[in-house]
Amino acid sequence: MDFLRPTTWEEALAAKADQPESVPIQGGTDVMVEINFDVRRPPALLDLNQVAELREWTMVNGVCRVGAGVPYTKVIEELGGPLPGLAQASRTVGSPQIRNRGTVGGNLGAASPAGDSHPPLLAADAIVEVESRDRGIRMIPAAEFYLGVKRSALEPDELIRAVHVRPATGPQYFSKVGTRNAMVIAVCSFAIALHPEERRVGTGIGSAAPTPRRAYDAEYLLARELDWAAPLDLTLVKRFGELCAAAAAPIDDVRGTAGYRVHAIGVMARRTLTWAWNDYLGRRAA
Ligand SMILES: Cc1cc2nc3c(=O)[nH]c(=O)nc-3n(C[C@H](O)[C@H](O)[C@H](O)COP(=O)(O)OP(=O)(O)OC[C@H]3O[C@@H](n4cnc5c(N)ncnc54)[C@H](O)[C@@H]3O)c2cc1C
Repeated sequence: MDFLRPTTWEEALAAKADQPESVPIQGGTDVMVEINFDVRRPPALLDLNQVAELREWTMVNGVCRVGAGVPYTKVIEELGGPLPGLAQASRTVGSPQIRNRGTVGGNLGAASPAGDSHPPLLAADAIVEVESRDRGIRMIPAAEFYLGVKRSALEPDELIRAVHVRPATGPQYFSKVGTRNAMVIAVCSFAIALHPEERRVGTGIGSAAPTPRRAYDAEYLLARELDWAAPLDLTLVKRFGELCAAAAAPIDDVRGTAGYRVHAIGVMARRTLTWAWNDYLGRRAA
């Protein structure tokens, strides 16, 4: 197996263009497990760890640009203010060791329906920056990035460079059901982001469909019917939960049944909306 070690982004793109069958590796917390268990044996590994810029985040024109190699620990320590939903989700990933190595870019690259960063990225309208040497940059909205189980819109000669997320303007929450409290892949998960300036609420469903997905009908309901100056109407909360549950399309598997997942999505949707709304009203009153 070849081991490619570019030190700049341009070298990394050139290596991927020349050897599209090479497998990028960042934290290796997915890739190494697959290799160790003989799930795959790629002809080449493309190690991105020497490309320093991937491990940085910056603010660009008021938008947070998180490098694909930023580990969860850094998201938790440095981005809890601007990206509270992603930081909350990052706290639930694996163990401290996994959070030190594992990255948001790797979560996107793996495109597992159970990946914890996907729901908050969807709820916050994140955009994934990908690039190839020969065709340049593509900016892909998160909602269009996930194409199937562990399948994304990434082409063989492309690499993920960063994910762009606008800093939160309202409360954001992430909720995850697991079979225990830590070191657990989600049975299902849910994220919410209030966008008060647009009178809109974003959603993200995890591990309850072939891909992470938004609950569009539930979002439209709130955009139409939420009174942004009043306490939450309980009938509306109930309908929101029902529409989020209806947006899920889960399967039965070792972690849970489809029926349980649908039920749990409805519960998490109602809970996170209520938490977020209480925060929102509290901030208005302060
Ligand atoms: C014990 C354990 C517990 C875990 N717990 C969780 C959990 O709770 N929640 C969760 O979501 N995940 C969990 N994971 C899975 C994993 O840690 C995450 O998916 C993590 O985000 C992967 O990041 P990484 O940098 O290690 O990716 P890598 O393993 O390096 O790569 C993952 C995939 O992304 C591709 N890739 C990486 N970087 C790029 C790039 N720049 N451009 C294009 N493709 C790229 C790789 O080729 C590969 O297909 C766990 C894993 C283990 C081993």
